[in-house]
Amino acid sequence: MRLLRILPLYGLLVVGCSNLNVFPVSEDARLGAELDQQIRSNPREYPILQNEPARQYVQGIVDQILRSPEIRYRGRFAYRVTLLHDDRTINAFCTPGGYIYVYTGLLKFLDNEATLAAVLAHEIAHAERRHATERMTKALGAQLLMEIVLGRRPERSAELAANLFAGLALLANSRSDEAEADQYSFRYLQSTPWYPGALLFFFEKLSQQRASRLPALDRLLSTHPLPEDRIAAMKRLIEQAKLPKPTEATLRSAAYQRFLAQLP
Ligand SMILES: [Zn+2]
Repeated sequence: MRLLRILPLYGLLVVGCSNLNVFPVSEDARLGAELDQQIRSNPREYPILQNEPARQYVQGIVDQILRSPEIRYRGRFAYRVTLLHDDRTINAFCTPGGYIYVYTGLLKFLDNEATLAAVLAHEIAHAERRHATERMTKALGAQLLMEIVLGRRPERSAELAANLFAGLALLANSRSDEAEADQYSFRYLQSTPWYPGALLFFFEKLSQQRASRLPALDRLLSTHPLPEDRIAAMKRLIEQAKLPKPTEATLRSAAYQRFLAQLP
């Protein structure tokens, strides 16, 4: 009975606050490992590219981003790159706990190393900012409230919430998560050799290509909405930081083209 009295308050708190996360960090790592297993056991849906030099190249970029002083969970989260062999999918995603998946379609869509680094930094930010378990916290709160309103047993709520987020629906990001991940991409890259605003090049190329309605873009835009305000926000960050114009040294196009040449 005492629990019942506390629960409505708890639910309201959870629904009312942003950036609240009732899950321990270890839960992100556990969920990630579970999703990683699911993905690896489903090669039809997720065809893994067996090319260790190519994987190492992308992993090397991730490892360099992880040296940013803003990274909190290096060593606790996996931060392991897996390449998926599907040229028709222009996408990348990151599970909670830092299992990073990058499609060859995305790699071939990009023009330089800096833009790949920016996309990877964005994905790392989803794990670092713990967006998935934060969304689960919100959903758990709403679910608890609903259960209480309907007069059902509250013990069932945790179980319901767990089921609600089983599977990859977990990876669909909200607009505010996207905005935050964009911002952190910029911040993480500031301590690397790459141009910190390079995510803008990806956005600009996407909006150009969107006009041509490539089917490969649908999937990307379903997990990563691209409103014009993301472009505007990135331009603002670049302006505020007074970044020098990008050069070959901060874009690394030639190195990137050599990398692409070794992909199947
Ligand atoms: Zn995202």
